[in-house]
Amino acid sequence: TVGAVACDKDGNIAAATSTGGMTNKKWGRVGDSPMVGSGNYANNKTCAISCTGSGEFFIRGVVAYDVACLMEHKNMSLQAASDEVIHKRILEIGGDGGLIAVDVKGNIAMPFNTEGMYRASKNSEGEEDISIY
Ligand code: ASP
Repeated sequence: TVGAVACDKDGNIAAATSTGGMTNKKWGRVGDSPMVGSGNYANNKTCAISCTGSGEFFIRGVVAYDVACLMEHKNMSLQAASDEVIHKRILEIGGDGGLIAVDVKGNIAMPFNTEGMYRASKNSEGEEDISIY
């Protein structure tokens, strides 16, 4: 997956997700990445999310939308909502992977339940944080 999330100075957010799919996938398989709400979601009320991992489980868990719902309806922070979904809900149904997310205030969360997930971020001051593992 190559995913990106962004928040501009006015709090407008966007998410984008691109993937080649799973290795050795069945012909015609459609994963979670193009499904709004599963592998990709953005809503100016809450956050923007891009997911990577075992798409079938991310579809079943409607993962990206679930994070936004936890923020909107359970008043959870971006980090708490992202952690709940990646470290609890998706694991419980057997899924592995992670997500990158930014909320309308510019907070960032990038949890994953796998060995590693390449990721990088840049805040409004232009400070970069690149984690290659
Ligand atoms: N989530 C993608 C899929 O299931 C795989 C990936 O992480 O790129 O198609």
